Amino acid sequence: MREHHPLETVSDTATRLALSEGRAGLLTIDLGALVWNYDRLRQVAEGARVAAVVKADAYGLGAERVAGTLYDAGCRDFFVALTTEAVALRPNLPSDARLYVLNGLLPGAEALAVTHDLIPVLNSPEQVARWSATAQQTGRTLKAVAQVDTGMSRLGMQPDQLRTLAAEPQRLEGIDLTHLMSHLACADEPQHPANADQFRIMTEMSALFPHLPVSFANSGGAFLGQSYHKALVRPGIALYGGAPSTDGNPMRPVVTLEVAVIQTREVLAGTRIGYGGTVVADQPLRLATLLAGYADGLPRALSHHAGVWWQGVRLPFIGRVSMDSIIIDISALPQGALNPGDFVELIGPNQSIDDLAADAGTISYEILTALGSRYYRHYVEA
Ligand SMILES: *Cc1c(COP(=O)(O)O)cnc(C)c1O
Repeated sequence: MREHHPLETVSDTATRLALSEGRAGLLTIDLGALVWNYDRLRQVAEGARVAAVVKADAYGLGAERVAGTLYDAGCRDFFVALTTEAVALRPNLPSDARLYVLNGLLPGAEALAVTHDLIPVLNSPEQVARWSATAQQTGRTLKAVAQVDTGMSRLGMQPDQLRTLAAEPQRLEGIDLTHLMSHLACADEPQHPANADQFRIMTEMSALFPHLPVSFANSGGAFLGQSYHKALVRPGIALYGGAPSTDGNPMRPVVTLEVAVIQTREVLAGTRIGYGGTVVADQPLRLATLLAGYADGLPRALSHHAGVWWQGVRLPFIGRVSMDSIIIDISALPQGALNPGDFVELIGPNQSIDDLAADAGTISYEILTALGSRYYRHYVEA
């Protein structure tokens, strides 16, 4: 995986541009790797259509650029979480792009969904009733996805509610169902028994609507084998280079994050370091301060655990992560080696989003979606 990292070469110009805008961090988003991951998922799920989940601003990477790039790569199905995200994305995509709203139809948002030609995921009988009423009021046939809860207890109709819907099809008047959908709770753990349990219920539920295409698999589900692919696969994290499962990561990294050094110092043994004085130097140390912190999506839980990389050397965080800065211990480097304006790697060839997430006790999804708006964003064209 690491040999695929093409970003070192573009880095120099981009870091200069970042500094000239007064930004201390450079977030590089490799749209070529994004497309490679999309194509990879299409191969893995051959025979199924592959959508793109672009909720939460495409996991923090920029929904407009990500969705536009994937549209050019052939993707036509885009999932967001909220109606407001779909409305923002609609003008950036050609009209044959289908925009689905995962989290359901909010009371009062029906007109917006109609105007912007959105496909709500209907998660309750109440949402079905409102969408059907909207169809009849507007005199139009309105597309929707019906979601069934096969064992996550988060969103979707209960199996009994879906049985009622199948038995009383007049409840769907005016609605053109495009898919029956469900979501896997444990797809990133291939051996988890919940996968087979949910699969069994999904099979039972889809028999109620025998002609309706099914959408079941997220990134993890795409790697659970062909039986999970159904008609439409819905990957998110795998597109963005995160590991789809605990079995390893066949995807290419999409994100690189480098942050600038603003100053260096030498401290004597006995010197307190950072907020709370939680670390006291036990020997003379050389330190550097980086200009990114928890307001830039580097969780405070990284304090004392994480490190950065510079020219093949790991430089550990020392003391607590601040809002806008982090102190690192550079004693392992020769004196004068690292200087203000130099960039160190937070995410890149030496440290993946999953590595950094593990150091913070979280998942790559949370690292990506928290990245924040202060970095200079450099998109490498596909
Ligand atoms: C977020 C989400 C996805 C994408 O999940 P990944 O694990 O990122 O692939 C798919 N389906 C639903 C319902 C989701 O909420």
